[in-house]
Amino acid sequence: MTTLNLEEVHTMSEFQKGLEAYTYCTLCPNYCRVDRTAGDIGRCGETDSVRVAWSGLHRGEEPPVTGEKGSGMIFFCGCPLHCAFCQNHQISAGLTGGDSSVGITVSIEELASMMIALQKMGATNINLVTGTHFIPSIIEAIKRARNQGLVLQIVWNSSGYESIEGLTLIDPYVDLYLIDVKTLDAEVAQRFCALAKYSEIIRPVMDFLVARHSEVTFDEKGNMQGLLVRHLLFPLTLPATKEFLHYFAKTLKNHAWLSLMVQFVPPKGDVTFPEITEKEYDSLIDLMEELEIEEGFVQELADNIPWIPDFNRDVPFPSSFAEVSPYFLALKQKAMHQETR
Ligand code: SF4
Repeated sequence: MTTLNLEEVHTMSEFQKGLEAYTYCTLCPNYCRVDRTAGDIGRCGETDSVRVAWSGLHRGEEPPVTGEKGSGMIFFCGCPLHCAFCQNHQISAGLTGGDSSVGITVSIEELASMMIALQKMGATNINLVTGTHFIPSIIEAIKRARNQGLVLQIVWNSSGYESIEGLTLIDPYVDLYLIDVKTLDAEVAQRFCALAKYSEIIRPVMDFLVARHSEVTFDEKGNMQGLLVRHLLFPLTLPATKEFLHYFAKTLKNHAWLSLMVQFVPPKGDVTFPEITEKEYDSLIDLMEELEIEEGFVQELADNIPWIPDFNRDVPFPSSFAEVSPYFLALKQKAMHQETR
């Protein structure tokens, strides 16, 4: 079994809880140990000021996550992992490399109000996208939102690049993990995630989650709880995806559902990759059958919508499956007005 490099394991005794965690930040496996409250910035590209790139309803998630009217998304700016072909590169690079005009800085109270606003829009859940580097603020916001009447489930939508310390903090507040297992192969991780050690980090992360969420359940409204594991086939890496499927069957199958995606859309036109062939696709379906992986979702080859979100727009996604939160829009307009004064 792959284990973490012991030199990089940060003990719980060193780890500070609450907002103090920002003062010596070890919220993700980068363990930057910077003081983000002083304006210092680690690999995630963000200080302790929460920045949100977009909030609204999204109907493009897996069926139980989308529900009837859409998942209530909150996209955070910055990211601890900087994948070479990130579709959200406008916002994931953070203050140091992204488009700093995209996204607004919000207080914890405003973040709580954003959750309440999504509930008023009829959201199925609150879907927190790449929130790892803001875990302490998110926890405070969830607590305040609960006090203000938030009843929706919390979805933790993550790259899988998490520290056990950070997960320990956020786990009591999470109902469903929508979590990537991008690859278990170091070379593939280096090429597509720009970080070979992702392949080592992800196994203990999944072990931690399975120990706490040992089965998928659904409530009377059809809301899913537990683990929904996403895996995207990267171009020309079929053997790595087959390795992942074997791992899933052996380790996760009885505890999690699978969402297998096969449509890779590089965000920049200067890079092209061959598309997956029907023969390759069929070989994955055959392997899933052989491994008796039955619970979950598989993207159809024909489902491809080659859409790259544009977070400069009020609705970054095709309007047929997304709707901006009026509360978020009002905050954005207020921020723009303050900038021009
Ligand atoms: S959250 Fe950011 S500052 Fe903190 S350890 Fe991760 S990358 Fe570094």
